[in-house]
Amino acid sequence: MLAGGTGGAKLAHGFQHVVGAGELTVIANVADDLELFGLHVSPDLDSVLYTLAGIVGESGWGVRGDTWTALEMLGRLGEPTWFRIGDADLATHVRRSRLLREGSTLTDVSRALAGSLGVTTQVVPATDDPVRTVVSTDAGELDFQTYFVARAQRDEVRGVRFAGIEQARPSPAAIAAIAEADLIVIAPSNPIVSVAPILGIRGMREGVQGAAAACVAVSPIIGGHALKGPADRMLASLGHEVSALGVARLYAGIVDRFVLDEQDAELAPAIAALGMAVDVLPTVMSTEEDRAELARRIISAADAMLGR
Ligand code: GDP
Repeated sequence: MLAGGTGGAKLAHGFQHVVGAGELTVIANVADDLELFGLHVSPDLDSVLYTLAGIVGESGWGVRGDTWTALEMLGRLGEPTWFRIGDADLATHVRRSRLLREGSTLTDVSRALAGSLGVTTQVVPATDDPVRTVVSTDAGELDFQTYFVARAQRDEVRGVRFAGIEQARPSPAAIAAIAEADLIVIAPSNPIVSVAPILGIRGMREGVQGAAAACVAVSPIIGGHALKGPADRMLASLGHEVSALGVARLYAGIVDRFVLDEQDAELAPAIAALGMAVDVLPTVMSTEEDRAELARRIISAADAMLGR
């Protein structure tokens, strides 16, 4: 599964529940990583890890029930506190940063963290190299977390670029997982800032297109809206249609199947005309059972297509 933070983590959790231990690999976006207090923070990798470990906070990030003692003290000492990092969450960034400084790759670190948290799913970054999302707004170019967290997504997005993406090499574990997969899933994640910086890494799009497995994408846009975050406004300001069809157009030529929500059933023929098989399914994942059920239905639709 190719995934960002929130929508990606939820569907990954559903798949983890349904497939055997160790059978799922999640390839997470790292273009919204940042450096804070000298520590390497990977918000999407961590949302996925914490969700799969069953310890994620209510909003889909951080650790549930976390406390804020360290952040309050950091603030008193003059460090920025707009990016909320709880005490338990901080421990992850301390550990990650130490292992990176000692020469581990981000892929190795993610494996180690998953192991420590008892997660049997492989969670790997799309790349071990630095790729950073830069958002163009009327206030100038902003790094992703300044746009997303510090300025609360209030700026109209005029353009998006991924600094470092040309030089970045895909994580070997990600490329291997794609090549060996029985099914490739593009999670219902933000197509502009979560999925594009994964597929845009050299060899990644070609890996998905050349893989033996079918590729299925799930729409993060339901009834013309994102369930969370700025994906809908970003699609609009960048000139895309704000609908499952608009998302499907971005994935044309990459995916074999497209899953859209029941609310959007009338878009199915237009999506099919893009050359994809279409599945209309309940895709709102309110409960853990919703996540697992969506994973089951995606697997059976793909199996039916392959005659399995
Ligand atoms: P981020 O890195 O935290 O922004 O997370 P993602 O890119 O993975 O996810 C953001 C997208 O997830 C948004 O566009 C949401 O609409 C979508 N999303 C969140 N929950 C659900 C859900 O239950 N079902 C579907 N289909 N999409 C969801």
